[in-house]
Amino acid sequence: MEWETVIGLEIHAQLNTASKIFSGAATAYGAEPNRQACAVDLGLPGVLPVLNAAVVRKAVMLGLAIDAEIAPRSVFARKNYFYPDLPKGYQISQYELPIVARGHLEIDLEDGGRKRIGITRAHLEEDAGKSVHEGFGAMTGIDLNRAGTPLVEIVSEPDLRSAKEAVAYMKKLHALVRYLGICDGNMQEGSFRCDANVSVRPKGQQAFGTRAEIKNLNSFRFVERAINFEVERQIDLLESGGTVVQETRLYDPDRDETRSMRSKEEANDYRYFPDPDLLPVTIHAQDIESVRGEMPELPDAKRERFIRDYALSVYDAGTLTATRELADYYEAVVAGCDAPKLAANWLMGDFTAALNRSELEVGQSPVAPQALAQLLTRIQDETISGKIAKEVFDAMWAGEGDADRIIAARGLKQITDTGAIDRIIDEVIAANPSQLEQYRSGKDKLFGFFVGQVMKKTQGKANPAQVNERLRARLQGD
Ligand code: ADP
Ligand code: MG
Repeated sequence: MEWETVIGLEIHAQLNTASKIFSGAATAYGAEPNRQACAVDLGLPGVLPVLNAAVVRKAVMLGLAIDAEIAPRSVFARKNYFYPDLPKGYQISQYELPIVARGHLEIDLEDGGRKRIGITRAHLEEDAGKSVHEGFGAMTGIDLNRAGTPLVEIVSEPDLRSAKEAVAYMKKLHALVRYLGICDGNMQEGSFRCDANVSVRPKGQQAFGTRAEIKNLNSFRFVERAINFEVERQIDLLESGGTVVQETRLYDPDRDETRSMRSKEEANDYRYFPDPDLLPVTIHAQDIESVRGEMPELPDAKRERFIRDYALSVYDAGTLTATRELADYYEAVVAGCDAPKLAANWLMGDFTAALNRSELEVGQSPVAPQALAQLLTRIQDETISGKIAKEVFDAMWAGEGDADRIIAARGLKQITDTGAIDRIIDEVIAANPSQLEQYRSGKDKLFGFFVGQVMKKTQGKANPAQVNERLRARLQGD
């Protein structure tokens, strides 16, 4: 039988506010355990949560970016459950009335097409603390620094049909929240993580199959692998006459498999009810307009503009707009050298390679965009060849100064004086009489040999186009 995969993702993005969603405690990652949890985060009796306005603005910005409805009135609810890292006994979340609903995102498919993925809702909630299992012997440590950290949970429609589509969607959302500057996107630190709901159904069947939910996937690779494993598991189960049970599963990357964690709880197990400590969140049209005024250009729009304004291919424009930092760097280079295609090639080639080698982010590049622009200008005005430019770039990366200084200090200026080039050509011809004879008797391939000799004699500094032209004339002559 042919099977179809159905996937819906619930993505948790940590909103990058300085303080927590309902308290003034700091959210910075990596502090000593329990140093950033105040009475509100600990849920001590008699404390009152106060909503952080910055969290609301960030959620509205996300809502606008995914073309969703922003609720004029949304409500915080208590989701009741017991866990050692949740001292209050409930998590403050949103249930019936989320702040954002009915949005969508377009993903690029491998065949070049695009697909719209519905976003059911995005709601605000607080994160819980962490249980720490290492270093406590038979006991478990509790770190409540993360308790009360603001999250936005973004729930997709079950519109995804493969692990690849799921990853494309997750990457798209990841790029979006980073563009918006509402989440740092750091997946190792858990700032962006995902639960994947996976089911299969016979191809052509309308009704969805029973799903399993794989919790807490914190890398794109794990999402892809966990889904692929889960799809295989469900198909094997169904084909051997079994049934899929609705449950929560965990992915184990070491064994590349998912394992049952617990049977799936129903919403009514949580006894959701509106939190009496918090007022409903009201958002007015002018609040929305004020957030809209602060929105940066979004990735899709930027990509279209790069294609239009810089005559780039879809692929190049997509690569250069993958992050806002790289896109900004590119535009700063182009502003300084007016060579959009050359700049694109350099950024995707030597520049990216150098960053990877040095394990640096775009923002940490030792070569500023203006400095790279100067280098590219020297290629354009034929001061140096593209090949020599690579040597200059490496020297710039190593901190030897700007392009002009390195070109002068190392004597790399291109030889464009035809008299000088001719003299070298004559020397090369005189030194290689047998090659000359073979060439003249029809061995055309030897032309490359002569070019190589001339370039070698000039340490690569002769203008390659001129060398070709003069050499051809000379070899044909007499
Ligand atoms: P819950 O709140 O119990 O996690 P929801 O109904 O809100 O459940 O759905 C959570 C996610 O599961 C959504 O992303 C949704 O698209 C997805 N989903 C729902 N049904 C299925 C299904 N049969 N197969 C795959 N994904 C599903
Ligand atoms: Mg869920």
